[in-house]
Amino acid sequence: MTLIQRLVVSLLPKRWSDAIRAESQSWVLRCSVCGTARSVWDMGGIRYKAASVGRRVVVRCGQCGKFREMSLERKPTNPL
Ligand SMILES: [Zn+2]
Repeated sequence: MTLIQRLVVSLLPKRWSDAIRAESQSWVLRCSVCGTARSVWDMGGIRYKAASVGRRVVVRCGQCGKFREMSLERKPTNPL
């Protein structure tokens, strides 16, 4: 986990950190070059109560190994 994620998990009550983790995992960043999608949480970020679908960010793609422009997408409701 990244520093911000550790802070969230260690400072907040478990039910809040669980909600933030679930929210972050429901957002994915999709690489514009190879199409690989990873959740915001897996990328080391957090996202909570701040929707901005279609926003583009530049992050390092684990698949390409290079910085790529990625689009932020909301995962379809996952049947947990
Ligand atoms: Zn890629």
